[in-house]
Amino acid sequence: VLRDLIDHTLWIDTHEHLVPETTRTNGQPYRFTDAVDGTTTTVPVDWTYLIVDYAINDLVSSGLSAESASELLHGSRTPTEKWDIVAPYFARARNTGFLRAVDVTTEVLFGHCLSTSSVESIDRASRDIRIAGYYDTLLAQAGIERCQVHTIDAAADPIAVPYESNLIDLDLSLYPLVTGCHRRAEQLANIEVAELTDYLDVIDACFERDAARAIAVKCLWAYDRRIAAAAGRASPRAEFRRLRHGLASEQDRRLVGDYFFLHSLARAAQFDLPVKIHVGYLAGNAQRQLPGLAQQITDAGVLAQQHPRNRFVLMHMGWPYQEHMLALAKHLQNVVVDLCWSWILAPASTFDFVRRFLTTVPASKLLCFGGDYITIETVVGHSELARRGLEAALASLLADGWLSIEAAVTAAVMLMRGNAEQVFGTR
Ligand SMILES: [Zn+2]
Repeated sequence: VLRDLIDHTLWIDTHEHLVPETTRTNGQPYRFTDAVDGTTTTVPVDWTYLIVDYAINDLVSSGLSAESASELLHGSRTPTEKWDIVAPYFARARNTGFLRAVDVTTEVLFGHCLSTSSVESIDRASRDIRIAGYYDTLLAQAGIERCQVHTIDAAADPIAVPYESNLIDLDLSLYPLVTGCHRRAEQLANIEVAELTDYLDVIDACFERDAARAIAVKCLWAYDRRIAAAAGRASPRAEFRRLRHGLASEQDRRLVGDYFFLHSLARAAQFDLPVKIHVGYLAGNAQRQLPGLAQQITDAGVLAQQHPRNRFVLMHMGWPYQEHMLALAKHLQNVVVDLCWSWILAPASTFDFVRRFLTTVPASKLLCFGGDYITIETVVGHSELARRGLEAALASLLADGWLSIEAAVTAAVMLMRGNAEQVFGTR
C-alpha cells in the first residue's frame, strides 16, 4: 500500500539548480561562473554530465587527481578514454549516495549502469534524449509535478533566465545580490550605483519586479561566510564605498553583506516569501568554510529567532548536525526543514532523520525532496532514492507501531507535496 502510494504521488521538488534547457539541447558544453565559489562550471555534452554534480567530488575524495577531474569535465578525450580514467575511482566510491544516484539514473533512463561496455551507448542515448521539451519528459519520469529552481549562474538575473518548462518555479537568488555588487541587477534596475542608498534601491527594484513571480528567496551564503547577520549601529556607508572601489577588507564585506541581507529579509517578509538558507555540509572538495559547519547551525537558529516575521526553510537537514535541526524545527514556529540533497548526501542519516523527525516535530514542518542538481537527468535517480528512503522510514515506524497505516499514508502525502504547497503556496 505504502509503496504504491509513494510511487504514484507526485513530488513538489523544492530545490534544483537546473541550467536552462536550451543550454543542454544546443549540442555545446555549457560554461558559467558558479556563484558558489566563483569558479567556472561546465556541463559537458558527453556522458560526464552525469558526474559533474557531486559524484566527481567523491571520486576526487577517493583519490582522483584534480588534473584528471578537470580533464574529464573539460577535456576532449573520447567517452571510453574518459571512462578508463575514472573507472578505478568508480570502483572505490560506488557505494555512496552521490554515485548510487548516477547508477539509478542510467538504469532507469538507459537500462544500464556505467561500465566499459555501456559507456558508449549511454553517451549516445544521453545525446538523443536532449530535444526541446525533454525537461518536462524527465520531470514526469521522476514523478515530479512542480520543481523549484535556484540559479547558481553568477551572471544570471537574480530571478533566473527564461525556463521553457512551465513546471518550473523560480527562487529569487539573494547571492550575489547581498554582496553589494551585482552588475546584472544594477543594469536591470537601471540604477547607477554610487552610494549605499542607490544599492538599496537596486534590491528594492529587484523585489518589486520579481517577488510576484518568485516562489521563495534563496541564500547560499554558507559557502562564503557565516550566516549570522548583526544589525549595526550605523549604515556602512564608508565600507560600501571601499567595497565598490575594490578596497574592502573582510570586515567591510561582512558589514555590507549583513546590512543588505537584513534589508532583503525585511523585503522577503513584506512580500511573504519563504527564506531558504543553505545549512550544513558544503559541496566540493576544498571549501574553506567546511570547518565552520557547527557555527552555521547556531547562526541559523539565531537568525530564525531574531526574525520572527520571516519564514525560514533550513536546507539539507543541516547534515551532519541534523539532531540540532530537530530542536530548531520543534522549538520555532517559523522554521521548516528541507531534505533537499540529503537522500544522496547521507542516505542512512536521512532515513533515520525522517524517523526522528516524525516522532519529535510536527509532520507539517518537513519538506522531503529536492534533487539539488544542475543536470535534469540525475534528478530521476535522486527522486527514486528519495522515494525508497521515505518508504523505508515510514515502513519502519509502521513496524514499530508508532504510526498506523492511515497515519503513514497521511504523512507520505504531506512530506512529498502537501507541506510544500502549504509553505510555498500553489502556482
Ligand atoms: Zn543547492
